[in-house]
Amino acid sequence: MTDHNLNNSTLWQKALVNAITDPEELLTLLELDASLLSAAQSAAQLFPLKIPREFVSRIEKNNLNDPLLRQIMPLGEELLQVQGYKEDPLEEAKVNPIPGLLHKYVGRVLLTFIGTCAINCRYCFRRHFPYTENNPGRTGWERALNYISEDKSIHEVILSGGDPLVANDRTLQTFSDKLNLIPHIKRLRIHSRIPVILPERITPDFIAWLTQLKQKPVLVIHCNHPQEINALVKEAIFALSQAGITLLNQSVLLKGVNDNADTLVALSEALFEIGVQPYYLHALDKVQGTAHFDLEREIAQSLHWEMSQRLSGYLVPKLVYEQPGAPSKLSIEARDFYTG
Ligand SMILES: *Cc1c(COP(=O)(O)O)cnc(C)c1O
Ligand code: SF4
Repeated sequence: MTDHNLNNSTLWQKALVNAITDPEELLTLLELDASLLSAAQSAAQLFPLKIPREFVSRIEKNNLNDPLLRQIMPLGEELLQVQGYKEDPLEEAKVNPIPGLLHKYVGRVLLTFIGTCAINCRYCFRRHFPYTENNPGRTGWERALNYISEDKSIHEVILSGGDPLVANDRTLQTFSDKLNLIPHIKRLRIHSRIPVILPERITPDFIAWLTQLKQKPVLVIHCNHPQEINALVKEAIFALSQAGITLLNQSVLLKGVNDNADTLVALSEALFEIGVQPYYLHALDKVQGTAHFDLEREIAQSLHWEMSQRLSGYLVPKLVYEQPGAPSKLSIEARDFYTG
């Protein structure tokens, strides 16, 4: 490892350690009204506040409606108990055969590789996930890898979390060395918000690790609003794209963040411009504390229908819902909606 790369890795790790976790500091930095503090503190007790400083610099000051701020700001609404919103709406506990591994769909398994993220998104469907029981650690990997090696119908391993790229390069390498011993795994997919949230983590060493994998790498980023894509993000994604990595994006449809067709159209176009293919637009999972982000199904469908009319077909992400027990995510097709 060169000095240059060493510096890089220390930088992103420092940025993680220095993330903002105190609601009071967030309010001060963004010149927000102090009357928001007590609710923010209560909400942050249920699900901690965490935002890297550079991401905060992308947020407009003194604007509670900023679409980036809405995603990370703890609000009193999170404390409401709303009927129909549960701690585990996806009933993932049922498809969790061993700690850290979810085998829900044919051909692929998802590993909750690491319990933490670079940012805590208030709408997160894993905000109540029992990570402590599900943090596989090194011993957990043995069990997960044994499970994968014994089931030849599995061709793809998905690293999720938390955010798997919070793990350092050495940990990723240790894992992939073990995965390389399982010949029926053809693809390694990584679901990460880090290329957008902490772009400095996309170092030359990390890209080198991706490109030397025995499996075909797929990186699914998570971007909800075009304002998230600044020059640093563009640079990181460009480097990945130059290295030939398949790049997809998933977004969550969120009230007050991206619930209008202009934003969604601009997002698809901005993503494609930097080499990212829109993949999924997720309807919110009904998780306790997130009801204020939810949209009526009809509104979601009509937004998606408007995207379909305004964008080239390959720029329209699939609008999907998750239903416990279903054999895949369920997409809503225009044909089920168009009544002309
Ligand atoms: C979403 C998800 C996958 C991946 O599904 P794709 O439709 O292939 O993107 C796999 N496992 C679990 C548990 C999931 O939630
Ligand atoms: S980065 Fe992903 S897993 Fe982490 S809090 Fe945000 S939405 Fe949830």
